[in-house]
Amino acid sequence: MNLNYTAEELAFRDEVRAFLDEKLPADIAAKVKGFRRLSKEDHQRWQKILNEQGWYATHWPEEYGGVNWSPVQKHIWDEESSRYGAPRSVPFGVNMVAPVIIKFGTEEQKQRYLPRILSGEDWWCQGYSEPGAGSDLASLKTRAVRDGDHYIVNGQKTWTTLGQHANMIFCLVRTNTEVKAQEGISFLLMDMDTPGITVRPIITLDGEHEVNEVFFEDVKVPVENLVGEEDKGWTYAKYLLTYERTGLAGIGISKAALQHLKELATRRIKNGRPLIEDASFSQRIARVEIDLMAAGISNLRIIASVEGGGMPGAESSMLKVRGTEIRQTINDLARRAIGPYAIPFVEEEMDLDYDGDFLSDENAAPVTPQYFNNRKLSIFGGSNEIQKNIVSKMILGL
Ligand SMILES: Cc1cc2nc3c(=O)[nH]c(=O)nc-3n(C[C@H](O)[C@H](O)[C@H](O)COP(=O)(O)OP(=O)(O)OC[C@H]3O[C@@H](n4cnc5c(N)ncnc54)[C@H](O)[C@@H]3O)c2cc1C
Repeated sequence: MNLNYTAEELAFRDEVRAFLDEKLPADIAAKVKGFRRLSKEDHQRWQKILNEQGWYATHWPEEYGGVNWSPVQKHIWDEESSRYGAPRSVPFGVNMVAPVIIKFGTEEQKQRYLPRILSGEDWWCQGYSEPGAGSDLASLKTRAVRDGDHYIVNGQKTWTTLGQHANMIFCLVRTNTEVKAQEGISFLLMDMDTPGITVRPIITLDGEHEVNEVFFEDVKVPVENLVGEEDKGWTYAKYLLTYERTGLAGIGISKAALQHLKELATRRIKNGRPLIEDASFSQRIARVEIDLMAAGISNLRIIASVEGGGMPGAESSMLKVRGTEIRQTINDLARRAIGPYAIPFVEEEMDLDYDGDFLSDENAAPVTPQYFNNRKLSIFGGSNEIQKNIVSKMILGL
């Protein structure tokens, strides 16, 4: 395994840097670097720039408008774009439903949906989880009953991320109750404007509206919106999850968060000296930095093996657990760094153009919301306990 970049890879990195220098809007980068709120318009503006460059669909084959980068090129893009403060693409359309449509969809579905994902015309959300079906996803109950040329859908999805912005949702629905749970599930595409669909916000601990409940009441969905075969949706759902779990380790974002923590600890004064010079606090920062470096190397190891033709297996689960633990530790240290200012927080401070008084200072504004919001990291994309089950079975052979 060679962990050094080749001359071509270094040239690619220069190309990425030149593009980011020239095209990444400064106001969007300031929000990302300052961990502030991004609007729907911010995401769409950046998506348009990426699409014009031909760099939006990094997981698609070229024939559909994708980039077809090598695993190392994708890694370079992740590292550099995080370092520059580029927003991560909202994954539900481009990185989740699109690979499923490309692999299992009809020609009509490809023609219809893929160009609309690239152009940003469609904003997708993910309808997998239900109130009684999260880790045990196969127990989902949302029902789709065939009625001529349509399915009639009734049920509820939950935790639907950014569903308030979406005009399309992909859902797992139960089409057969007579067979084993995994065998009676289908994969349906739905227009969110269809009568009978209601979206209700869930406000999370940080006061933000990021997730939703989605209700379906006698929703009529054309049969041509079924992906693949009826009752075979579990296969497609699992295929999608391999894409969802890629990149959940968030090494690039953790590096940015660590930098933010160091700046914070440099400004805070403890016993007349910057907090970063405090022996015990700097030791904690050093420990998480070492963990992050080790996770970064593991990430490269997996990339090198994929580049050599291997498949990312249970190692992705290991990386998800370590990566999310590291991020939560950084958030925790940032919360400790600002001390009593972490207790109350002013939601409006999360807007970059906020012009009121800061409770502490501008740098501290996102610390508490981030701390609360990132509790989610060890839950979504398969909870860390579930990932540990996978590691114990597949790697440790227990
Ligand atoms: C912020 C956020 C955004 C999300 N966005 C989406 C979205 O856009 N679309 C979507 O479909 N879903 C989304 N989810 C849902 C997410 O996938 C589920 O929350 C997750 O799968 C866990 O399911 P659950 O919440 O039902 O918890 P449960 O499955 O009920 O788990 C509860 C606890 O028990 C543990 N546990 C469960 N089973 C086992 C086991 N076998 N062994 C050991 N421990 C176990 C879990 O680790 C957890 O700690 C989101 C969740 C969050 C928090």
